[in-house]
Order: sequence, then structure tokens, then C-alpha cells
Amino acid sequence: MAKDTHYDLVILGGGCAGLSLASKLSEYGEKAPKVLIIEQRTNYPNDRTWCFWDIDHPEYQSLVSQSWSKFELANQERIHHFDCSQHQYLMLESHYFYEAAIKQISANPKIQLMLGQEVLSTPINTDQGWHIKTTHSELTADQVIDTRPPKKINREDSVLWQCFVGYEIKTQSDCFSPEKMVLMDFDPAFKNGLAFLYILPTSGKKALIEYTVFSENIISKQQLITHLKKSIALRIDSQPYEILRFEHGTLPMGYQAAPQNRAATFLYAGLFAGAARPSSGYAFQRIQSWAKKCAQSIVTDHTLYAAPKENRVQSFMDGLFLTVIKSNPTSAASLFEDLFNRCDLNTVIKFMSDMATLRDYLRIIKSLPPSPFIKALPGFMIAKACHRLGWK
Ligand SMILES: Cc1cc2nc3c(=O)[nH]c(=O)nc-3n(C[C@H](O)[C@H](O)[C@H](O)COP(=O)(O)OP(=O)(O)OC[C@H]3O[C@@H](n4cnc5c(N)ncnc54)[C@H](O)[C@@H]3O)c2cc1C
Repeated sequence: MAKDTHYDLVILGGGCAGLSLASKLSEYGEKAPKVLIIEQRTNYPNDRTWCFWDIDHPEYQSLVSQSWSKFELANQERIHHFDCSQHQYLMLESHYFYEAAIKQISANPKIQLMLGQEVLSTPINTDQGWHIKTTHSELTADQVIDTRPPKKINREDSVLWQCFVGYEIKTQSDCFSPEKMVLMDFDPAFKNGLAFLYILPTSGKKALIEYTVFSENIISKQQLITHLKKSIALRIDSQPYEILRFEHGTLPMGYQAAPQNRAATFLYAGLFAGAARPSSGYAFQRIQSWAKKCAQSIVTDHTLYAAPKENRVQSFMDGLFLTVIKSNPTSAASLFEDLFNRCDLNTVIKFMSDMATLRDYLRIIKSLPPSPFIKALPGFMIAKACHRLGWK
């Protein structure tokens, strides 16, 4: 293979994880390895909205376009109001992230982003390094990081799935309070999972409204759209509205990530490689923290750094929580009410942001009713043991 088609590192997939890592590597200037990112899309539309809490200086905070100091959680006629001014809820529109990451990458000539090329199959380890085939080219690399999602996702690969569709809409008259977002407004009519509306208002007339379901089955986009349209009509009193943008996601909650056992020179990364927090499916800030450490590890000792294993206590709590939701999704709404009402909000935010201490875990446990968790415990322990033994 010619020298110009050989790279120190090739990153498969230039989405959040691929661009974040490349952007961090670019900051090392001359010390950065020769990197190629292969991405199948030809441009980067505003295809998703990343939200996270303002805690411990989150990455890309400077690109945040909206923040909220208040939010509500609603379960039927009960509406709970919260003040999160200590740790605001932040919204980052993906196009700002893509632009910033691509700008940072193009500042370093050693890092190249190749768009419009699909990586075909899995790279093969040869004497010349990893051999990678794309729709237009063939190349080799000493190291490979694969951030592509699996071609096919199977229902049983994750404890639960978080399926959602969102419309960014514009109404003719004021319908929203831009100072307050709606974290969860549960839909008791949905019986095949825990369903709720998530509303991010950016003005009186504009909001991103998402219909989300946590369930064992993957809910189709069409089904979600039907529920979303109904819920929007109820929310805005059947006023006419314009759809400005559409979002769709199927995020794993408790995914059995592929083992990282191919070789020290090949690593899986991103959402389906353990980046998603089991109990929420959120991954953005976790990917940032991985990207920073991985770039440092590549530059300083040429080693690929895998996303760390879940903290044991958190993993146990998330796993048990998912088992409770799975066994009785419709009554799980009240658990969220208990968690937010009975526990100090900063503790809940720390828990959701992977920053909880042992004391915080105890506070979380104390705020929840014990009986659903005691009932779910034997099933959860059996499932864990089966997983350890490699049984599905
Ligand atoms: C709509 C949406 C909203 C989300 N909101 C939040 C949120 O608010 N907070 C949060 O923390 N997380 C959120 N997430 C979860 C998570 O942060 C994102 O999914 C994130 O983009 C995951 O990064 P990734 O790099 O693993 O995957 P992606 O960003 O999807 O990147 C994978 C890339 O691989 C490319 N690719 C795939 N196959 C090939 C191939 N064969 N050849 C070349 N390229 C290929 C894709 O085109 C894509 O660009 C959201 C996800 C979605 C979908």
C-alpha cells in the first residue's frame, strides 16, 4: 500500500465521537499522529440537540444556544416545578458542534476528514496494518477506532430502548414559556412503555417537542410521530404550527456493548460501545471525556483508550432502575416524581451527570419507595448472572 494511503490512525465514522476525538488530537499540533476520519455523509445538518446539566464546566459550553433555570415534571394532573439555577439545563444544537469540530480539525494538516465515503465491512488485520475498504478507496492504518453504530440493532441487545421523535415547531401566537423547559410530561395513555413529552422552548412561539418512550421493544418512527402530533395538538390547543426541523433517535439503555478484545490497535467507541449512560441513554458529555483521555493516551504513549467500565454502584442502581421500569413501565412515572420531589435536586443532577458520591447514592436510594426495587431485585440478579455466564 502506498505511503500516502497509510495512516497512523483511521477513525471510522465522523459523528459525535469521531469528530470529538479528532478535534482533541488536532489540539496537539505537530505531535498529533497522521489521522483520517471516514464519514459516509456529505454534509452536517442540524440533526440532533444535545442537552446536559451545567455542572463541573461541561465541554462545548461556549456553544450552548439556550439554557433554562427552571423546569417542570408532570404526571397527569400533578405538575411539579423545580429551580435549577445552580446547575442550569443547557442545549447545544449539533450544527454548532460540527462546525467547531471541523474548524479545529482543519487547523491541523496531519488530520484529514473524508466525507461521502462509506466504510465497507470490518477492517482486516494484515502485515501492513489494518486494511480498510471504503466505497471509493482502500487504505491501511496502524490503529483503528470504529465509532459506527451496528448495521442492525436487535431488541434483546439492550435492557430498554429510548425511542423518540421531535419536531421543532413555530406557532402563530405565544404557546410556550421560554424560561422553563419540561423535562418529562408523562403520557398515561401509552401502555407499551414509559412515554413522555419533552419540551425545550426557545421563545414564546418556538419549541423542540419530543415524544419519548422507554420500552423493551423498539417503537417505530411512524408510531412515535402519531403520538407526537396528538400530544402537540393537546399542548397548543390545536393551533396551526409550522415544522421547522425533525429529530429521531433510538438510544440503548443498558446495552451489551461488544467486547473490546480484537487487538490493542483496534477499538470500538461511541454510543454503542458503552458511551450511553444506561438509565438515560445520554452520551454527549461522556463522549467528550473519553475523547480527551483517548487523545492524550494516543499522543503520549500510542495507546487507544477505551471508555471506562461503569462505576459499580451506579451500574447496579441503573440496572435495577431499568428492571423496575421494564417490569412495570406505566407505574414508573411515579418513581421519577418521587426521585425529583424527595431528593435534593443538586444530588439528582450529580447522579444524572455521573458525579455522584457514595453519600449521593444513599440519598437517591432513600428518596425512592423500596417495594418495587425489592420485588425487581431477584430478577435483576438472575439476569446479571446469566449475562456474566454469556447466556442471553
Ligand atoms: C436525535 C438525538 C438526540 C440526542 N440527544 C442527546 C442529548 O440530549 N444528550 C446526550 O447526552 N445524548 C444525546 N444523544 C445520544 C448521543 O449523544 C448521540 O447519539 C451521539 O451522536 C453519539 O455519538 P456517536 O459518535 O456514537 O454516533 P454518531 O454521532 O451517530 O456518529 C456515528 C457516525 O458514523 C457514521 N457512519 C455510520 N456508518 C458508517 C459507515 N459505514 N461508513 C462511514 N461512516 C459511517 C454516521 O454517519 C455518523 O456520522 C442523542 C442522540 C440522537 C440521535
